[in-house]
Amino acid sequence: MTDIKRVGVLGCGLMGSGIAQTAAMAGYDTTVRDVSQAIWDKARGGIEKSLAKFVEKGKLTAPDRDATLKRLHFTTNTADLKPCDIVIEAVTEDLDLKNGLWKELDALCGPATIFASNTSSLTIAAMAAATKRADRFVGLHFFNPVPLMPLVEVVRTVTTSEEAFRRAFGFAISLRKEAVAAKDNSGFIVNLLLVPYLLDAIRAVERGVGSVPDIDKAMQLGCGYPMGPLTLLDFVGLDTTYKIAEIMFAEYREQRYAPPPLLKRMVLAGMNGRKSGKGFYDYSVDPPRVQGLGV
Ligand code: NAD
Repeated sequence: MTDIKRVGVLGCGLMGSGIAQTAAMAGYDTTVRDVSQAIWDKARGGIEKSLAKFVEKGKLTAPDRDATLKRLHFTTNTADLKPCDIVIEAVTEDLDLKNGLWKELDALCGPATIFASNTSSLTIAAMAAATKRADRFVGLHFFNPVPLMPLVEVVRTVTTSEEAFRRAFGFAISLRKEAVAAKDNSGFIVNLLLVPYLLDAIRAVERGVGSVPDIDKAMQLGCGYPMGPLTLLDFVGLDTTYKIAEIMFAEYREQRYAPPPLLKRMVLAGMNGRKSGKGFYDYSVDPPRVQGLGV
């Protein structure tokens, strides 16, 4: 059981829109803040499409879909998150950007409001320290696409109170997710193990070990993974992966977290994966075809 009624979400990109959809589907009144109406329009369109698929598969009724959409509110004003019982942040992976928003919200929200970051690689401590509620600060790390992926890592840092952790854990379960407890180290459990694997797949492309589709096929069929690492990178976003790798490399100073040069070049070229239309594959055609990478 959870005492949380109103949910705030910062950012409605890939993750924020999925988190907002999931919270609204679970019955929470949900307010999402991003920087422009054009971004919400795109997010709302994506949410409507995803809900339509749930209805098509008989996993959601049409009245429940309509009620879910009614529970979703979009805003560009951070102050609209003031009445929320929990605020989940899913903005660009940048500590200064995140902490600027946390400071603003810390002054606005009531003492019972829990702050939760969906960061992939920053430590929760680095954000909690920017606020006066380090005891009510947790990590809630969701996976993409949020409405379909069952896991949430619930992260407790050195300052998180037992009560805040318990409330956040209960909230994660109320979203009909499986929750695991993770320590506040950069990458938590999943990215600590996954990120070096994804970066190694890019290094394999750089070295010409195999073609992009063959590397994907090899890992799918040889290891039983649902998708290959380069397809997964396009899903995650190459810009996001680049930022994650930089942060994890700065934290651990281990070569396996260093972003490969090819990743940097692709991000510089705006090839951010599925969300930008091009990454390791070109999504402007159906089925997506392999992208020329100059390697
Ligand atoms: P994204 O680029 O799709 O979305 C980021 C959003 O933040 C954009 O819509 C942007 O407009 C918004 N934003 C930027 N500044 C803002 C501000 N001042 N106020 C409100 N919104 C602002 O990125 P994403 O993939 O959704 O990643 C978001 C967070 O989730 C990152 O911390 C990332 O590490 C984490 N994460 C990503 C994945 C993934 O698979 N992509 C998985 C788990 C966690």
